[in-house]
Amino acid sequence: MSEFFSQIHFENRDFFVLRDDLIGAEFNGNKARKLEFFLHADLSAFNCILSHGSSQSNAMSALSSFAKLKNLEFLYHPTHISSFLAQNPCGNFAFALKNGMKIISQKSEFNSLKNSPSTLFIPEGVACKEAEQGFKSQARLIDNLSAELGCDFDIFLPSGTGASAAFLARNSRFSVFTTPCVGSPQYLAKQIFALVPDSKVRILPPAIKAYFGELKLEFLRIWQRLKEQTSITFELLYDPQGWLTLLANLSVFSKPVLYIHQGGLGGLASQLARYERKFGLENLAIK
Ligand SMILES: *Cc1c(COP(=O)(O)O)cnc(C)c1O
Repeated sequence: MSEFFSQIHFENRDFFVLRDDLIGAEFNGNKARKLEFFLHADLSAFNCILSHGSSQSNAMSALSSFAKLKNLEFLYHPTHISSFLAQNPCGNFAFALKNGMKIISQKSEFNSLKNSPSTLFIPEGVACKEAEQGFKSQARLIDNLSAELGCDFDIFLPSGTGASAAFLARNSRFSVFTTPCVGSPQYLAKQIFALVPDSKVRILPPAIKAYFGELKLEFLRIWQRLKEQTSITFELLYDPQGWLTLLANLSVFSKPVLYIHQGGLGGLASQLARYERKFGLENLAIK
């Protein structure tokens, strides 16, 4: 089996995992897939990349590396920066600042930059049409594994904007299942349909009721069990809800399940620190 896949045994079940966490050092996972188009595009008309979203997002971190690689300035308009983060930059935020990210705090400045012809504007979470190209490559890779093993898959991946699930589903011959980690299933469906109007992605209701980034002991526990039983390190924002939802819905899958590891490990240390501040990890025997 190719180095891009793992076969794991978890909670007494067999799964395949597509290891998109391994496809690049600085930016990997689905953000690398989403940036594949831009990586090969002629960007000489632009002098900067502008984006917006959460102050700890994986997309922000990936874009900071990408801009550096392309010798473009990286400007970012965060939805919110807590005073704690401003004083103690950590995780993806610290990483992006180190890559030269410039913060645009004023909405008015963001809007005028967005309209400048020398700005390459990339929407929140890189959820744009151009992102599709990388998922054609991803679908091809999955097809190759299917041919090699002589079996079909049901594919599962947890969603934020839903762009990864939507674009993979449009380009794969396999069924794609997901669950929302940000917002309700209805909201995710709306976002998916905005990108791919006739999308066949199947949205499963999340196993745990939680807002995005909420610290839940159940999340930490399944993350830990995954690490112990599979030796794979997943991330803590999307994967725990993903795996809990997958395990709660095993009866909907009729084929071997392929889970997509979408990277995001750059933010793991700061997520673990948040869990430690809230619950005290010494009690959980994680360290
Ligand atoms: C960004 C991200 C997601 C969400 O991807 P969407 O395409 O926005 O649904 C899921 N998992 C990880 C690790 C991510 O970094």
